[in-house]
Amino acid sequence: MQNQQSNRLFARAQASIPGGVNSPVRAFQSVGGNPLFIASGKGSQLTDVDGNRFLDYVGSWGPLILGHAHEPTLKRIASVMARGLSFGAPTELEVLLAEKIKELMPNIEMIRMVNSGTEATMSAIRAARGYTGRDKIIKFTGCYHGHADYLLVQAGSGATTLGAPNSPGVPASFVAETLLAKLNDIAGARRLAEEYEGEIAAIIIEPVAGNMGVVPPKGDFLAELRSLCDLHGIVLIFDEVMCGFRVGLGGAQGLYHVQPDLTALGKVIGGGMPVGAYGGKKAIMEQISPSGKIYQAGTLSGNPVAMAAGLATLEEVSQPGFYEELGRKVSWLTNEMKDALQASGRPYCLNAVGSMFGFWFIEEEVHDYETALRCDTVLYGKYFREMLLRGVYMAPSAFEAAFMSAAHSDADLEETAKAFQGALRAL
Ligand SMILES: *Cc1c(COP(=O)(O)O)cnc(C)c1O
Repeated sequence: MQNQQSNRLFARAQASIPGGVNSPVRAFQSVGGNPLFIASGKGSQLTDVDGNRFLDYVGSWGPLILGHAHEPTLKRIASVMARGLSFGAPTELEVLLAEKIKELMPNIEMIRMVNSGTEATMSAIRAARGYTGRDKIIKFTGCYHGHADYLLVQAGSGATTLGAPNSPGVPASFVAETLLAKLNDIAGARRLAEEYEGEIAAIIIEPVAGNMGVVPPKGDFLAELRSLCDLHGIVLIFDEVMCGFRVGLGGAQGLYHVQPDLTALGKVIGGGMPVGAYGGKKAIMEQISPSGKIYQAGTLSGNPVAMAAGLATLEEVSQPGFYEELGRKVSWLTNEMKDALQASGRPYCLNAVGSMFGFWFIEEEVHDYETALRCDTVLYGKYFREMLLRGVYMAPSAFEAAFMSAAHSDADLEETAKAFQGALRAL
């Protein structure tokens, strides 16, 4: 594989940008080798600056559920752009996107647009704290909620593979209000809620965890969290920045029929543009400034171009059968992957929910961060590089999900299955 142009750009980038990248996991540190610089994408494919083409299962880390350069989305954006990029004043598009999200996620009674998933979770937690008048929150190890200080504790995603779950620059006092529980361990969460009775503002969770690989909720775990929150007057926040509009049209809350008080969104709702949003119960959301006293703002929030991309995307995913078709592709491919893994004799655990899927090289079932961490990351790195050589771009980390898009064709899937078999044989 030729990669002189990527290597040349990476060398230049490192002189100007920390680590040569604008988000850590892009640097390929946990899988070895240098990152590929991308020239373009179309449908299911990426083309790098050396002209190599790959079937892409990263999809910009989740947003591109319609694939790259989706024509109707591009057209929609172009017509909005022609009328101006940003006004810092309300536009109709913000109302349309807010209404569309409310229609698809009925738990959301009011919603506020922001510019990233990080802002969405940070603002949702501020709302929960302001509403309850309490300071502490419970988060689950291995769940990633963006890079706000007090959420960078045992955070999964890039923070896992960098071995820096507690980042320098985050004062101990800032994380003192963050309590940690284990995913799928309701007894642990219960103990914390009892020990800190009357002090916990919110429990925040990725209802389908996707930043330690894909870990679905077990049994009634989410429903039990709901009851626990009701019992103790705690605000339940679903961080659906990744799984919202990925695991199904109504997100994880629709799939598992559990109603959070607040939901954080991002990724798919921006269709590839920088967008986040948080919303939920009217009683809480009305406390947000200017209708209430909890301050939260953004110069570019509700940006018309971003709103247009989000609207075009959500209209497409609302078409009948959209998620059934994605699900069909995921089960076909993951069945092929399981067969190949079985044949290879390598122990593994593979999970898939909706259009998110992934596996670890591991000897046990993964149900939380602690088990996920026991996977073979060195072997994953080799696997990743073998897949690249065969023209398939998977996540450059053992602790990330793979994403199926509507643009992946059956021929793409067959090619991916072949590459997978070949990659396993080469390990
Ligand atoms: C990606 C992600 C975030 C952070 O979103 P950014 O847009 O990267 O700030 C938060 N929560 C979850 C679950 C995510 O997957």
